[in-house]
Order: sequence, then structure tokens, then C-alpha cells
Amino acid sequence: MFGVKHMKWWGWGVEGVGFHHEDKPRFAPFVKEKVGLDLSEPGTAAPGFDEIDVPESLLPDELAAALARAVGDKHVITEDLDRVVHTFGKSVRDLVRLRRNQLKRVPDAVVYPGDESQVSAVMQAVLDADAVLIPFGGGSNIAGSLEPLTGETRPVVSMDMGRMNRVLDLDTEAGLARIQAGALGPALEEQLNRRGWTLGHFPDSFTHSTLGGWVATRSSGMQSDKYGDIADITRGLRMVTRTESENGPGVDTVVLRPLPSTSTGPSVREMILGSEGRLGVITEVTVNVHQLPEERVVLAWFFPDFERGLKAMQDISQSEVNVLVARCSDHRETAFSFATQKKQKGVKKLVTDGLFKMLERRGWDLDKMCMAFIGFEGSKSHVTHQKSLVKDIVGKYDGVFVGKGPGQMYDQKKFDTPYLRDFLLDRGATADVSETAVPYSQIKELYDNTITAAEEAMTEAGVPGYIMCHLSHNYHSGACLYFTFAVVEKPEEQLQAYDMVKRAVQQSFIDNGGTLSHHHGVGMEHSPWMEQDVSPAGSGMIDSLFDAVDPGKNLNPGKVT
Ligand code: FAD
Repeated sequence: MFGVKHMKWWGWGVEGVGFHHEDKPRFAPFVKEKVGLDLSEPGTAAPGFDEIDVPESLLPDELAAALARAVGDKHVITEDLDRVVHTFGKSVRDLVRLRRNQLKRVPDAVVYPGDESQVSAVMQAVLDADAVLIPFGGGSNIAGSLEPLTGETRPVVSMDMGRMNRVLDLDTEAGLARIQAGALGPALEEQLNRRGWTLGHFPDSFTHSTLGGWVATRSSGMQSDKYGDIADITRGLRMVTRTESENGPGVDTVVLRPLPSTSTGPSVREMILGSEGRLGVITEVTVNVHQLPEERVVLAWFFPDFERGLKAMQDISQSEVNVLVARCSDHRETAFSFATQKKQKGVKKLVTDGLFKMLERRGWDLDKMCMAFIGFEGSKSHVTHQKSLVKDIVGKYDGVFVGKGPGQMYDQKKFDTPYLRDFLLDRGATADVSETAVPYSQIKELYDNTITAAEEAMTEAGVPGYIMCHLSHNYHSGACLYFTFAVVEKPEEQLQAYDMVKRAVQQSFIDNGGTLSHHHGVGMEHSPWMEQDVSPAGSGMIDSLFDAVDPGKNLNPGKVT
């Protein structure tokens, strides 16, 4: 649509691309052993779009005319496919509901503004009609941040920001770029790279998510150890919001200039970060940008167990070392990574076999072995120095250097891994992720208790399942733990066992000193844990903010709290 590309309506990524395991000989045996799934059986493909019952558009003529005046006729779309694409994000719950033909409430229209004045005009039209406005970036969230409320009787308008995708200004002296909120990751990096700069924000969903979406969900990218989370990267922004007067609702623009820091009371910037469309529509963001580095390398190490891997990551982040990324998988995720490797041949195979034999001779239990990636970026001399500092720390925890190969593989594969979820859904396995951040002093306990809670939930549900974890995104006092889990359920029972495991994992985060989410946001999926996360009084403050700004609950209602 107008050069705005969307993902498959039923799954992750672009049409024609999917996960295949034929070239990965260890994958099918691994899945069979861990969850009893036989991959030689054909999967059930997602239904065709004509098998889906799409509720009719309830767009009133008056609102349709006002929207057309705001953005032009051709930028107001009421086709079923577009409305369905804009209904959900890409959580496993979203995908299952689509596959099971469970569309309760779908936006009545999708509008594509071309600039901020059009965003304002659309918002005014929506408020005048007492309708609902839901901003849409790339549609990649997995927290239920987009869907209209079931039973919403007012008209619902999805505002797709995809036409607003340009880098507007680059201040090379300050290292700041002003970028329109609808720019997808590749589009904005390409515009910056052309001039020798980078944002450095690379979430795994990079190819299909936008700057505005990142800000609205408080996203974090794999290189956050160097560049920071989007909350750190965002310096200024503009957001079209609602105002109230005796003449009824109006619109205005919040303008936050790009300041290195400020002490002007509670931070309005922080209020908007993570607001998931409840306070308005972010139209542009001014972000920290950096010159492209001379060198970038991601190296791999093995550790005898996760405990030592965790300690090494902690030591690195609390030392004077500056790394790009420090990530360590537990033994379960390490085994999974090995299972997704392509067949090794010749010298490569001999080297790997030799390395494993050497580790066994050293007394390692290979089933407990963990793989870590540590990345470096900057001038050649900086990278060389940082590598030598890391080498000393890693050595203290018996880390064994594995070289560049696995890091290169990880870099190449990271944006493809999400396709695996649809492949598994075709075969009756529901796979998802939950992630948290927790102080280092509680990290191992949270890890152990969360694995136990998930496995107990699988046993209680009576289904086979698997859970694995990695540490990434390090801070002074703690880090993010990222859990991936899958359960095998009968198609007609799908999400029952999944819900039990998801609830157990989320509750374990809170009970063990972690947050309900480090970077996926709250949406409707995580809002049941909000009071426990920020306390009832804290949650009440957020409610009051939303109610004060949007008393009519016209802006993406029901998300966050
Ligand atoms: P959308 O999904 O379109 O919207 C998300 C929320 O933001 C909605 O509430 C929407 O209304 C609001 N919104 C969007 N644009 C605006 C705007 N301009 N103004 C106001 N509100 C707006 N997240 C990470 O942080 N790191 C990861 O590594 C990561 N990996 C992922 C991998 C996969 C496979 C998937 C499916 C998701 C992943 N995510 C990750 C989650 C997701 O990509 C992020 O939440 C992302 O920030 C959402 O951006 P989006 O543009 O797709 O927003």
C-alpha cells in the first residue's frame, strides 16, 4: 500500500519466506527427543484468507468523509485484508486467534497520514466522532498492544505511520538525527548509513518494526550494552495529543527539544516512552546517532555451566570494559542452537569434534555447556584492547574461546529465527518468549525458580514442553533474562497449556525480584501484573495520567493498565 509493506496477515515476516530444517540434520531428532513431535509428519498450513470471517466495517459515513478530508481519499482503506493486518501484533495469542478464525473486533478503517498536520486532522476527526484511534507502527509487538477492545461499540480507526519514514535532519556536530516515527529499522539505518552514521538499535524484530513503535513500547536492541535502550537513545520528540476545552476535545502537539539532559520536573519524555498510543501519536523522534565503527566483531566462548557464564557477563558489565553485546545462553538454549546448525563437513567438523573431545578430557559435562557471544565495536586499537580485557575476565570463569564462526552465524540468523514460530504452530507446538530484568544478586534464583515454575506448569497441564533462556542487555546492577518456551497442544486446545506456562513464568518474574517485561512492553498481555510490578499506587498514577490526557478513552484504550 503506497510503498508501505506489511507482514503476512497470518504470521511473521514476508510471504514466501519460512523456516526449513532439511539442511539442519540435528533439528528433527532434537524436537522429537525434547517434546515428542515428529517433524516427518506434514504440518497444517494456516487457513486461506477467504476462510476467515472478517466483521464488517462499521465506519460511519460522516467519519469516513472527515478522514478522507484529513489524509485524502486514497489513504483511507476499508478493505478486509488491510483491516485484519492492522488488528493484532505478532504474539502467539494473536497468531493462534487468526488461525482459529477468532476475529472479534477489527478496525473499521486504516488511515495513512503523510505528515504531522494530517495526524492532527485525523485525531480531531476521531475525537469529534467519539471514535477510537490506534497508532500502528510495524505491527510487530507481542504484548497485545494494538487490538481493539472486544465489544468496542465506537468506530475504530487504525493509523498506519508507514508513509512517515524519512530521516529529516542529521546534526553531525551533536550526533543527533530527527527521524519520522513510521520509519522501519532498515529504512532509517539505510538513510543514516549512506551518510556514515548509525542508530545502533537492532531489536530482533528490526526489519518489521518502527522508531515510533520502539519508543511507544520502550524497546531494546541486541547492541544495547553499547548504545543503550531506546529510552536512552531518545532525546527529543513530537507527539500529537488530545486537549480539552469547553468547546469539546481538541488536539495539540507536545514538543520535546533534544536535550542531553534536563532537570525540568518529572520527565514528560519518560511519560511518553512506553505509553503504547494511550497519550497520542508520536510523529517524529530525535535520537542519538553514532558514526559507523571502523571494526565490528562478535566472538564466541563456551562456559562449563550457566552459573559461570552469568558471573562472567556480570563481571564484564561491572568492569571498565566497553562491549557491544554480552549474551550467554543456558545449556538448554545452547543445545537448541547446536540443533539449528547446518551440517558441518570437512575441516570445520574435525575442529568442532576435536574441541568437544578436548572439553570432555577437561572434565566438562557437555550437556551443561553454555555458549556466550561477546561483541566489540570501534577503532581497531579499541577493539583489540577490549578483547584482551574480556579474555582475562572470561578466563577466570573457565571460558574457552571458540572464535568468530558462531558469532557470524548468529548475526546472519538472528532476523530469521522468528519464522520458526509459524513452522511450530503448523505442527501443534505453541512457542513464545517472556523476558525480564533483575538485579545480579537475584539473577540465578530467578532463573532457577522460573525454569521450575514453567516445568511444573507443563506437568500440571499434562503436555510436553521445553524452556530455555539467555542473558542479554547488561546494566550496572543487573541484566535481562530472556526465556523461550514451547508446549505441544492439540489444535483445539491451543493456548490452554500455553496460558498456564506463560502465567507461571510471569508470576515467577515478579516473585523473584524481576520486572514483568524488560523490553516488550505491557499491552493487554502483561497488564494483569502491572500493580505487582509498580505497586498499586504507582499503577494508579499511570491511570490518572491516561485519564487526565484522554478522559474519553479514545486513544488506544485498555493497554498498559
Ligand atoms: P506496533 O506493534 O505497531 O505497535 C506497538 C505499540 O506502539 C502499540 O500500542 C501502538 O499503538 C504503539 N505505537 C506504534 N507507533 C506509534 C506512534 N508513532 N505513536 C504512538 N504510539 C505508537 N522488541 C524489542 O524491544 N527487542 C527485540 O529484540 C524484539 N524482538 C522481537 C522479535 C519478534 C519475532 C517479535 C514478534 C517481536 C519482537 N519485539 C522486540 C517486540 C516488538 O518488535 C517491539 O515491541 C517493537 O517496539 C514494536 O514496534 P512496532 O513498530 O512494530 O509497533
